[in-house]
Amino acid sequence: MKTENTVWHEQQVNKAQRAALNNQKSCLLWYTGLSGSGKSTIANAVDALLHQQQCRTYLLDGDNVRHGLNGDLGFSDEDRIENIRRVSEVAKLFVDAGVIVSTAFISPFACDRQMAREKLDHGEFIEVFIDTPIAVCEQRDPKGLYKKARSGEIKDFTGIDSGYDVPKAPEIHVHTDEHSVQACAEQIVSYLRNQGFIQ
Ligand code: ADP
Repeated sequence: MKTENTVWHEQQVNKAQRAALNNQKSCLLWYTGLSGSGKSTIANAVDALLHQQQCRTYLLDGDNVRHGLNGDLGFSDEDRIENIRRVSEVAKLFVDAGVIVSTAFISPFACDRQMAREKLDHGEFIEVFIDTPIAVCEQRDPKGLYKKARSGEIKDFTGIDSGYDVPKAPEIHVHTDEHSVQACAEQIVSYLRNQGFIQ
């Protein structure tokens, strides 16, 4: 619990200096989309492309984080909010460390994504909407989750019996049913280059 005796300690080396040493401007690529839309796949492809180009990156994957830091959280509304809160705080630390960090979480609620956006400085939060029709996600069903949701084995499944707020103005809008994984990844890397985050 934060108390009045918890005082912020200014550090000598700042974010811009750390990022400059990495030859990049740090930022957060916040992937959002339905289960099976392709968030993890594309985030991994982008990470690989950036790494090839000597960029310093880190990928916080939704399922992986639930194995460790967020292993105590379930899928109730309260836990989903806490999940996003912790992830955005960790992502903020990575941005502060001068890294291009990506998060791949369904993050279905606009208010939670807004909360994450507000934690960062202006321009650092890049919402990447992985826009894939639910019929396509369900057909892919890479983890067999839609099948379980349809049979009632999983409750509160996004797109089936839990809502998804479609991003109104994402910085990057990706259509995976029209483009290959590689083309989608290149779209995102081009954005970073055009906006001056990478060279
Ligand atoms: P999410 O992380 O959003 O739950 P995944 O990345 O785990 O989704 O799964 C997406 C699935 O869709 C993978 O099996 C991937 O190979 C497949 N896929 C097919 N075409 C594409 C594409 N253009 N972009 C992303 N994924 C695609």
